[in-house]
Amino acid sequence: MAWSDKSHPHRLLLTKQFPLGLEMLLVFQPVMQAANRIWNSCVWHSRETFKQEDRWPTEAELKAKFKSFAAWKELHSQSAQAVVEEYFEAVSSYRKHRENGHHEMNPPGFKPKNHLRTVTWKRQGFDVEDNTLVLKLSRKKEPIKVALPEGWNVVTLPDGTGVRGIPVEVKVKAVVRRRKVENLVLHVTFDLGVMPVYRTGAVSAYDYNSATFARAASNGQLDLFVCRELLSLVQYRNKILAEFQEKISRCKEGSRRWKRLQAAKVHRLRRLDRRIRQMEHALTKLFAQLDEAEGVAFAVVGDLTSLRRSARTGMKGKKASQKINQMAYERLQSEQRYKNLMRGIETDPWTEKYTSTTCCTCGAYNPGWRKHRGLWVCGRCGLVLQADLNGAANLLKQYLFGTCTGRGLPSAFGEPRVWRWDGRHNRFVQVSSRAA
Ligand SMILES: [Zn+2]
Repeated sequence: MAWSDKSHPHRLLLTKQFPLGLEMLLVFQPVMQAANRIWNSCVWHSRETFKQEDRWPTEAELKAKFKSFAAWKELHSQSAQAVVEEYFEAVSSYRKHRENGHHEMNPPGFKPKNHLRTVTWKRQGFDVEDNTLVLKLSRKKEPIKVALPEGWNVVTLPDGTGVRGIPVEVKVKAVVRRRKVENLVLHVTFDLGVMPVYRTGAVSAYDYNSATFARAASNGQLDLFVCRELLSLVQYRNKILAEFQEKISRCKEGSRRWKRLQAAKVHRLRRLDRRIRQMEHALTKLFAQLDEAEGVAFAVVGDLTSLRRSARTGMKGKKASQKINQMAYERLQSEQRYKNLMRGIETDPWTEKYTSTTCCTCGAYNPGWRKHRGLWVCGRCGLVLQADLNGAANLLKQYLFGTCTGRGLPSAFGEPRVWRWDGRHNRFVQVSSRAA
């Protein structure tokens, strides 16, 4: 997995995985269980504070309180702090889900005593000696040394060049299947530096929708990506999740039935998530490949922050928030961003205002011309176009000229290409445009 930092959009960060083998379990187990004890302390202390004082403790409060705990002294101080930070992240995502109408969600809870919690080492928590990572523990303890293969810190870009990365974060995770630890995996995140991006070239714009994604490029190319399989998988996943949460909320936490349901939920979701992520990766990879092939310098995507905001203030209903939350637009966008960055393409979020209610050809504004079945039928110039393609073309216009309304297209678009998921080969393939 890779991504680029939001605050440094041209910095490419990439994570590589190194399986360690079960023989390393003896070395890492005490550390991972110590991290688990810190997590459980977070849960316990938060609940107590809430019961007695009717408020949730702050992050700083918990960190200060646990400093004297034995478990805290097992780990490097940054690793121990990271557990508290993860707990707070889990709490805030729980709150966000509640706000969005998912009342079946439970707050982060206790983990079993022997649970192997992921441990994180930040920049100051480890050293690099050639091909060995030295993972520091608390000051009094010997660090853990992990030997890595030659070339462990080299990442190959799509054009074949190798880039040496600087490790910035290390995590150790347990791979558990059917309650048995199968392996330990080291996740090392590398900073690959600032990627050079093209300064001149074509521009492409993307319209993210639930069942279709549309692309319009300044060279006149239109593309429609039919993603019904992806959408129905995501909807199915959300339905399964809601059903499990509903059942789980009715049993006593920690009971045998509760545990069984939790395990079943994880098992079901893991398989579905794998399929969903596979499709998402194939889609964003295709975006980046098309842009690269057509010499695109800037890929424009809808600005999601404004979409979210209007969803929060305008449409408060449960239906609306579900609609927003169905697809992981943010995840898709960050995937597209880093895949572009690896190819020297800059991704630029831009406002989608009026893009779905304006004609891309003549610039006439009329919300009523977006007809049912996703067609745009212009009452002025007579354009008939798939509505999402019209949206993408308007986003392109908005990016190039500052606005999409009241002005025509500088050049005409060609016949759109249509892409569809091929389940047999697990990739998107081009189909005849009638299929859409
Ligand atoms: Zn028109």
